[in-house]
Amino acid sequence: MKMITFKLLNIIFYFKKTLPMSFTSLGLSPYLLKIIVEQKYEQPYPIQLKAIPAILKGKDILGIAQTGSGKTASYVLPIIQQLQKQSASKNRHVSTLILVPTRELAIQVNDVFNLFVNGLPEKLKTLAVYGGVSINPQMIKLQGVEVLVATPGRLLELISSKAVHLTDVKTLVLDEADKMLNLGFKEEMSKIFSLLPKKRQNLLFSATLSEDVNTIKEIILNNPLIIKIDGEENKIDLINQLAYFVSAERKGPLLRYLIKHHKMQQVLVFTSSVFKADVVADKLRINGIKASAIHSKKSQGAREEALNKFKSGKLNVLVATDLMARGIDIKFLPHVINYELPRSPKDYIHRIGRTGRAESSGEAISLICEEDQHHFKIIQKKMGKWVTMIDSSDFDLKGY
Ligand code: AMP
Repeated sequence: MKMITFKLLNIIFYFKKTLPMSFTSLGLSPYLLKIIVEQKYEQPYPIQLKAIPAILKGKDILGIAQTGSGKTASYVLPIIQQLQKQSASKNRHVSTLILVPTRELAIQVNDVFNLFVNGLPEKLKTLAVYGGVSINPQMIKLQGVEVLVATPGRLLELISSKAVHLTDVKTLVLDEADKMLNLGFKEEMSKIFSLLPKKRQNLLFSATLSEDVNTIKEIILNNPLIIKIDGEENKIDLINQLAYFVSAERKGPLLRYLIKHHKMQQVLVFTSSVFKADVVADKLRINGIKASAIHSKKSQGAREEALNKFKSGKLNVLVATDLMARGIDIKFLPHVINYELPRSPKDYIHRIGRTGRAESSGEAISLICEEDQHHFKIIQKKMGKWVTMIDSSDFDLKGY
């Protein structure tokens, strides 16, 4: 007993040192956190931040998210944790069923389970079953399985040969539900639902919310938490984010230093007011940087002219407010600078989403004063990503 406590304390100490707070605050066990560190998952993705605590509480989930969003780990981790607390179910009575459209996804999801179950104190058997291969080996392997990842057709075949039973299922996951419906599995899915116990947790993931997915949602989900991860949030990983800690009076010189020193050719600078946009653009021009402000107080013609010059490279810097920037769509914008932070995290994501477009990486820089620090922490927490902060107090800004 003492040995186990000691081991656990060691693990807790290890992950506290290595993981940022955000993963440790989701309610996952030290064993899982240790594997997360080994997998080099530095921070939870937005879907994981939202889904993991809710699933651990037993809530149903509707996750609108694509591959690449980290959706698999968002349900695999809490499911493993819940299973560790339950006693093993009867032989051939699986307790978690994950329905997927294809053999590839079945293998992939099962691999993620295997990644996280190795090293757990209680053994947990998982299996992927799918059509197009011989059924016999799958029937044999189903002995003692707790987590079954299956394509609908093959699952029904295995059920009719009594190789597996669904009467003890506590958690149902539908992954890529839209694809499953597009592939024509609607009837099979309904049949499977009818074989499940009424009381269970349901997790539905889909890249899109079609009419058919909505129908499934109505049938199986009970007061779900809806998590929508749009493309913009997914794209964040492509963006190199940086923040500079700076005193208020050095903000202007630091902006000019960064633009000149890094020879930035096309920069979108954000301010929080029209007045500030003008002041910043004026100061840039006085210091020899080709810049213009665009905002609602300028005529349509003046705005269009500035935008065209910016697009063609005649103007290096455009200073804009959030409202104005919504209309700016440039294929590859290499730099976005937040001279002032936006009020909402959503606007922050929208702003930095101007860069790193079309699969190209871009850079988003934020200038952070003492009074912005707390707000910037909230933005990062909402985004699910921590930004490297550079202290600029010893930068020589003379002449900028
Ligand atoms: P998925 O959307 O579930 O297919 O996951 C996409 C990829 O992201 C997979 O290769 C995962 O291993 C990886 N991944 C998932 N969560 C994280 C995380 N928090 N940090 C880094 N990589 C992750």
